[in-house]
Amino acid sequence: MLQTGDGDIRTRALIIATGSSFTPLGVPGEEAFLGRGVSHCAACDGAMFMAQPVAVIGGGDAALDEALYLTQYASQVTIVHRRDTLRACRLLQERAQANKKLTFRWNTVVRAIVGEDVVQRLQVEEVKTGERSTLDVAGVFPYLGLTPNTQFLNDLVPLNTRGQILTDLWLRTAVPGVLAAGDVRGDSARQLIAAAGDGATAALAAIRYLRTGQWRDGNAEAL
Ligand SMILES: Cc1cc2nc3c(=O)[nH]c(=O)nc-3n(C[C@H](O)[C@H](O)[C@H](O)COP(=O)(O)OP(=O)(O)OC[C@H]3O[C@@H](n4cnc5c(N)ncnc54)[C@H](O)[C@@H]3O)c2cc1C
Repeated sequence: MLQTGDGDIRTRALIIATGSSFTPLGVPGEEAFLGRGVSHCAACDGAMFMAQPVAVIGGGDAALDEALYLTQYASQVTIVHRRDTLRACRLLQERAQANKKLTFRWNTVVRAIVGEDVVQRLQVEEVKTGERSTLDVAGVFPYLGLTPNTQFLNDLVPLNTRGQILTDLWLRTAVPGVLAAGDVRGDSARQLIAAAGDGATAALAAIRYLRTGQWRDGNAEAL
């Protein structure tokens, strides 16, 4: 049985397609300035920061990729990273280090995002010394990774170490009748077209289960 905001639903098959959410920084100002300087999409919002300084938070592939993209528009892009090494692949690291518009603030975490109507600066802290300082920016792009939206499942289905739902090729979980599609599952390509394809695959597998009552021990070819 599903408990929803619109009441309970009894069902024999369920496709979980709740996606992933950006891992939040969890600092004051992050929610208040979302859309007013805080963004998770350089391609969508980068041009709004033409000739202005921006900060990217994180040290993985997504952070460097987006930071490099933002150098097309911003006057300066500062990557704020809590460690002194990057997780990003070597190619992106080399490109980032060769780009004169990119600078790094190593061993540094963001403590607050500050401004009046829009973002004006970051309050940051050097983790080794505890020294606090400010960084004047008009835009902040946090890229700390994605958290799959599985918290509500309460151990209903097995998850991988990243909290994504484990499925087989037909997107069936270990629990008969429960399937998962899109970004919420492990090994997702995290693309719109892949999520749509997952929806079709999971729906076919669910229909077969409803018709035959067979779960993973059935012949997937018969779909
Ligand atoms: C900034 C950004 C840019 C991107 N750009 C591209 C791009 O250019 N091209 C591309 O192919 N892909 C892109 N992607 C990836 C693409 O958006 C995802 O791969 C796709 O949306 C995944 O689809 P989904 O249905 O799995 O999840 P989502 O689209 O995230 O949908 C999940 C839905 O479930 C809802 N939900 C969550 N929890 C619950 C709950 N407990 N109960 C009920 N509902 C719930 C959410 O509100 C949401 O509506 C981008 C993603 C981001 C974040």
